[in-house]
Amino acid sequence: SKMVYYFGKTKTEGKNVPKSILGGKGVNLAEMTRIGLPVPPGFTITTECCDAYYKSGKKLPAGLMDDVNTAVKTLEKELGKKFGDDANPLLVSVRSGAAVSMPGMMNTILNLGLNDAATEGLAKATKNERFAYDAYRRLINMFGDVVMGMDHHAFEAAFDKVKKKYKVSEDTEVPAEGLKQLCEDYKSLYKKVNGSDFPQDPIKQLELSIMAVFGSWNTSRAVRYREIEGIRGLLGTAVNVQSMVYGNMGDDSGTGVAFTRNPNTGENKFFGEFLINAQGEDVVAGIRTPQPVAEMPKWNRAVHSELLAIKKTLEDHYKEMQDIEFTIERGTLYMLQTRTGKRTGVAAVKIACDMVKEKLIDEKEAVMRVPANDLTQLLLPSFKPTARNAADVLCRGLPASPGAAVGKLVFSAPEAREAAEAGLKVILVRKETSPEDVDGMNAAAGILTSTGGMTSHAAVVARGWGKCCVAGAGEIEIDEKGKKIKVAGRTFTGKDIISLDGTTGEVMSGEVETQEPKLSGDFAKLMAWADGFRTLGIRTNADSPNDSKRAREFGAEGIGLCRTEHMFFEADRIIHMRAMILADNEKDRKAALKKLLPFQRKDFEGIFKAMDGLPVTVRLLDPPLHEFLPHEPEAQKAMAKELGVKPADIVKRAEALHESNPMLGHRGCRLSVTYPEILEMQVRAIVEAAISCSNKKIKAQPEIMIPLVGTEAELSMLRAKVEETIKDTVEAKKFTGKLDILIGTMIEIPRAALTADKIAEHADFFSFGTNDLTQMTFGYSRDDINTFLPDYLSQDILHVDPFQSLDQSGVGQLVEMGVQKGRSTKPKLKIGICGEHGGDPSSIDFCHRVGLDYVSCSPFRVPIARLAAAQSAL
Ligand code: PEP
Ligand code: MG
Repeated sequence: SKMVYYFGKTKTEGKNVPKSILGGKGVNLAEMTRIGLPVPPGFTITTECCDAYYKSGKKLPAGLMDDVNTAVKTLEKELGKKFGDDANPLLVSVRSGAAVSMPGMMNTILNLGLNDAATEGLAKATKNERFAYDAYRRLINMFGDVVMGMDHHAFEAAFDKVKKKYKVSEDTEVPAEGLKQLCEDYKSLYKKVNGSDFPQDPIKQLELSIMAVFGSWNTSRAVRYREIEGIRGLLGTAVNVQSMVYGNMGDDSGTGVAFTRNPNTGENKFFGEFLINAQGEDVVAGIRTPQPVAEMPKWNRAVHSELLAIKKTLEDHYKEMQDIEFTIERGTLYMLQTRTGKRTGVAAVKIACDMVKEKLIDEKEAVMRVPANDLTQLLLPSFKPTARNAADVLCRGLPASPGAAVGKLVFSAPEAREAAEAGLKVILVRKETSPEDVDGMNAAAGILTSTGGMTSHAAVVARGWGKCCVAGAGEIEIDEKGKKIKVAGRTFTGKDIISLDGTTGEVMSGEVETQEPKLSGDFAKLMAWADGFRTLGIRTNADSPNDSKRAREFGAEGIGLCRTEHMFFEADRIIHMRAMILADNEKDRKAALKKLLPFQRKDFEGIFKAMDGLPVTVRLLDPPLHEFLPHEPEAQKAMAKELGVKPADIVKRAEALHESNPMLGHRGCRLSVTYPEILEMQVRAIVEAAISCSNKKIKAQPEIMIPLVGTEAELSMLRAKVEETIKDTVEAKKFTGKLDILIGTMIEIPRAALTADKIAEHADFFSFGTNDLTQMTFGYSRDDINTFLPDYLSQDILHVDPFQSLDQSGVGQLVEMGVQKGRSTKPKLKIGICGEHGGDPSSIDFCHRVGLDYVSCSPFRVPIARLAAAQSAL
């Protein structure tokens, strides 16, 4: 198949060739050329060539360099320049570009095509010898680094020597003569390290560079980035070879990076930065701090207007917010890149809503545009205004990625990772972040850098993750080796805590109190659209009136799982629970349960009230009883004292309750079989609470759920007990109103899924407990999976944690079977899911496909589930 696609005035190939082949950058360079934007011409080598390169043991595919040669010829003709020419040489950049953007992760080589003769040629053509030798030294340096893997410091040392000789401190102050000398020094260095001369043949340079870019696809940092981002199934990177334009030709030149809208807030305002007299990488690398694009009219009004026009052209064409790179060469604007801009969750929602208003997209598209998981960022904490006002502000950097982060200082990525693994919250402090830091950035609560702009690596990556980041805090003196920072005349070390405000850029000393976020009008609008499209119901897992209330505010349409055991853990109740467990006869057990009943009833009333008119699935006691007993001798002594028994009695009971596999032991419905009085107390509390609500005109809709059922007999027997208790309670209360209480079960044991047709005979509803179902289907302990999961993930045995995202091909079969068999008995059987998977977008999509009625998830994930359900329906 075709290996090289040309873009330029001569021709622009590959109109419908997808990103998977041309890479994101390649597709968009061609597309921008097609819609008439000023793009320097060039060509793209396909990702298939990268794949072939690896498959053949790192060899370029046969014929590729012939096609490259042909494309170079076309380029030379179009531009009237020649590779290696001593009068007007063609120079190109060689850049990576995969189907999914991986900012800064792969290699780039600029100024390619320069050799001794061409540098003379460039000096003549530009009438600027200094510029030409500056370009040449950059090439030798970059080529040495990237293609030959030379140590960057050797080049730096050579440069320092030259600077010393000319008694200057800045690169820009070294005269042409010095740079000429530097090129000679660099070439010697190159030869000394590599044993061969710096290649003078531009085609040879190109060939080696193409191989280096292909090679950068599999560096550990690129592999790690794809792992973190969950990027899989790509062929490799494409290579873009593009004629060079220069932003460093003097004060009428420059380079910049911009977003067509504000990527932090979503505001419809061109947003970006530029540097005068600089080359592209200077902005992204964050080495110099650039100025905002809004300042550009002062420098060049015409270019600024042209950029604004391009913003409109791009948005009209792509109907999406774009992230662009541009260069101005002696007053002429060139577009070097466009791609869909990364944005915060807040911005994603605003942009989607605004673009509907602007008639660029419709409501369906708006709903599809916002990654469901990114809504977490709208639900992110910020600092409490009172605490903020009182905060000890040390300095202000750039507000690179919003949110609030508090943590101890760490100074390297490995440190950040270690601390996070130990469960500590840390702020990763770096002068500037490099792609090697991604791991640590991911692990840290927040990121702080002293150089770099809003589009620097740290900012772009953090924003993509919704992680708080303050960049370019130049007042901070960072001593990475000494592990301390100096700011405002004070010193902070790894022992100190600081707080970062990613929304204002402020860096504060100490721990500043955070608060929960408020939701915007656009958020409500998007959610309303989503609700209109989705067919899945969204419930929540909540076991307190407060959580229920919050979940309802987030849009929950009921409770899918109320874990009653959570109600037993509070200090004033657990003692009765413990007394119940300690009892060795039914009478004592009932006496203890009687004391628990009022607590349960009160909680249920509160929850029913918060969920007035909505269903509330209450699950009967599930965990093994030993979980309620203290295991430390001190705590056992205290308990003994409180209950007036001997500590030895407690030790004995705890030992008796010990099980080798408690998750497979005496728990769930098995507890109700052996201690029916527990079931009776809980059902009574539910019914009494419902009656009390009914008397207060609150519509309680309890659904009683029996956990861990594996056989039809368990459910039929327990259902009868529940029904009997309901009847007794109603009679005892002399209640004459209507109570519509459903009785159902969880499907969380594989056998329950396999016999779901039989089980359905006794169930008004099913709810898949996919936590236990995953545990028992894989045979992985829910609680201990982390002992081997990291190895399973890194060795690709598993792609994701199956407790986070439902294993659709395995566990999913049981879910599907449960649904089919259940409904073969009762066609209208109500079915939901209440395992953690109920809040995971890809699992939600599965639930939608297999015909569940609802998903139930934690309160904070309710909006995510609403959006994900809509996306599945569209
Ligand atoms: C489940 O097993 O999926 C479930 C929801 O119950 P729990 O997590 O309480 O065991
Ligand atoms: Mg369970």
